[in-house]
Amino acid sequence: MARLFDLEDSGYFYTRLQNPTNDAVAAKIAALEGGVGAMLTSSGQAANFYAIINICGTGDHFVSSSAIYGGTFNLFAVTLKQFGIDVTFVSPDATEQEIAAAFRPNTKALFGETISNPSVEVLDIEKFARVAHAHGVPLIVDNTFPTPINCRPIEWGADIVVHSTTKYMDGHATSVGGVIVDGGKFPWAQYPDKYPGLCTPDESYHGLTYTETFGSSAYLTKATVHLMRDLGSIQSPHNAFLLNLGLETLHLRMPRHCSNALAVAQYLQAHPKVAWVEYAGLESSPYYELAQKYMPNGTCGVVSFGIKGGRDEAIRFMDSLRLAA
Ligand SMILES: *Cc1c(COP(=O)(O)O)cnc(C)c1O
Repeated sequence: MARLFDLEDSGYFYTRLQNPTNDAVAAKIAALEGGVGAMLTSSGQAANFYAIINICGTGDHFVSSSAIYGGTFNLFAVTLKQFGIDVTFVSPDATEQEIAAAFRPNTKALFGETISNPSVEVLDIEKFARVAHAHGVPLIVDNTFPTPINCRPIEWGADIVVHSTTKYMDGHATSVGGVIVDGGKFPWAQYPDKYPGLCTPDESYHGLTYTETFGSSAYLTKATVHLMRDLGSIQSPHNAFLLNLGLETLHLRMPRHCSNALAVAQYLQAHPKVAWVEYAGLESSPYYELAQKYMPNGTCGVVSFGIKGGRDEAIRFMDSLRLAA
């Protein structure tokens, strides 16, 4: 027991810290993404929150694509600011010079979504990774929409991948959840002044230094034994069990989501009452080329479009929809 508490052995003694069901599911997602390990969280919000605060504290700054999920935008722009963590937003279409101009001496990370929710803009992962690495910070990518079936951001230079597993990974609306995957490649130990939480002794863990003891899993280990220990947003093991059932069919569901979405996008594009359609699978999309490069087998099932006639017509359209429930 003492060896487990001191992280000298791996094993199970308390579910908030580790649970065999959660570990099996996390290991499956890590394998799908090509990472060294993963940690399940209670929601996608918790995953993004932990992914940032694992390396950012009061007085720090990070840069984020502006094309991100609304909940993440609020977390970054409002709540993290209350923690003293500042963010600068850049367009996903910004040039490398424009992204670089947002960096400061205290910048600790760069963040983006592979395909943004709900505007479905495609991130040029290699471009973002180049700028991040030129400034000695990791690229964190939210890969919720394509899932690793359609895109594996770590292979394109991302260092940390996060998901809301609530969406496609679960796929059956049974459980809210999130995950953080560690790519294991970022050289934290080269930047001890920038990442003291990873590179200097953690007094709350008997003076253990994560980069020295855990090497390529330093980031993930700190997220597990420090953040999860203290903040506690674990995924319920029963939700992890349900998530695992969803994962078993993910590779079958994603291609069908994509072919369904493409059919809907093509239908809407030809419709006289539709003003515009955004779906990276359409050749007319400004993101078509990027999607072909990063997601040649398909992007996601979400289509974004506008109704002719502005807000009033959009509201009338929404009010006329019937939900099959
Ligand atoms: C839904 C979503 C989140 C938040 O996840 P929850 O599981 O709802 O907390 C984060 N990022 C993206 C891209 C999402 O679609």
